[in-house]
Amino acid sequence: MRGLWIAGAPTSPSAERDSGFARTRSSIPAPPDVPSPAATPNESITPMRKRTVALITVSAVVLAAVGAAYWAGRDLFHEPSARGVDSVVAELDGERVLGVFAHPDDEQTVNGLFWRASQDGAETAMITATRGEAGHQVPVVARQEDLGTVRAAEALKNSFNLGVDEHEVWEYPDGGLPDIDEDELVERVADAMRDFRPDVVVAFWPESGATGHADHMEMGRVTELAIAELEESGGSYTGPDHLVYTISPTKALTTFGGETGAFVVANQPEPDYAMPAEVGKKFEGWQIHASQRDFMPASYILPTWVVYALWDHEFYTVRDLGTDPLA
Ligand SMILES: [Zn+2]
Repeated sequence: MRGLWIAGAPTSPSAERDSGFARTRSSIPAPPDVPSPAATPNESITPMRKRTVALITVSAVVLAAVGAAYWAGRDLFHEPSARGVDSVVAELDGERVLGVFAHPDDEQTVNGLFWRASQDGAETAMITATRGEAGHQVPVVARQEDLGTVRAAEALKNSFNLGVDEHEVWEYPDGGLPDIDEDELVERVADAMRDFRPDVVVAFWPESGATGHADHMEMGRVTELAIAELEESGGSYTGPDHLVYTISPTKALTTFGGETGAFVVANQPEPDYAMPAEVGKKFEGWQIHASQRDFMPASYILPTWVVYALWDHEFYTVRDLGTDPLA
C-alpha cells in the first residue's frame, strides 16, 4: 500500500505547490483589469493535462507493445489447423487410456490429456521405459548415481498428481532404447496392453518423437509394433481403438528448436486436435520433477510461467485403428 501512495506522490497537491511553475506564477503580479482568480486554475491545469496526456499515451504504447508481444508469442504455440476440443479422450469416447513414454517427465507433454481423462472418469495408466538416469539436472538436487531412483520417484509422484491409476517405470537404459532388442520391447508393451486393455493409447510419433530424441522415436515405433501384434493375434483383446500421438507446436520449434526443432517439424504430421494444456498441472509437474524444474527456462530462455502463458494447449494427431489398422 505504501508503495502505491508513493507512486502517486508526484501528482499530489503538495508536489504542485513545490513546482517551479507555481513559484513563477506567484511572482508575476496580475494586471489590475484581469481577474486573477479565473487565470489561476487554467494556467495550473494545462501542464497537468499535458502530463496526463503524456502518461496515457506512454501507457497505451506500452500496453499495445505488451499485447502485440503476447499475441505474437501465443501464435508460436498455436496450430490453426487443429480442431479445438475440451478433451481428446472424451472426443474418442475413451474409457481406458494408456500412455507409453521413454523418460520421467515425458508425461509433462500430455498431462492435460491425462488430467482431463481421469477427471472424466476414465481409467488411466502409464509406462515409462527408463528411469532417466542419464539426464542433466536443472538444478542439481541429487548425486548423479542416484538420479534414476530420484527421477523414477518424480514420475510416479507426477502421475499420481494427475490422477493416473497405474504407472510402471521400467529400467531400460536411458539413451539406449534403440539398442535394446526390439522384439523384447514390443513383447513387453504388448503384454502391458493385454493386462490393461486400453481403448486409447497415447504415444510418440515414431518419425519425430516430439523432440527428436531417439528413445522417444523408438518407443513410438515399439508402440505401433505392439498394437500391430495385438491386431493380428485374434485373441480376446485385439488392441486399442485409437492411437493418439503427441505433436509439438511447429512455430515454437522452428523459433527455439534449432536443427533438432527443424527435424521434428519436417517429420511430424499436422495435429488434428488442440485441447487445454491444464497449465496449472504443468507448473505443479515441474515442481514435482525437482531435478528438471528449470527445464523450460533452459529450453525456451523464458520463465516457465511466460512459456505456459503462451503455450496453453496440447496438440494431438489421432489414428483410428478400426478403419486404419497397423497390422
Ligand atoms: Zn523424454
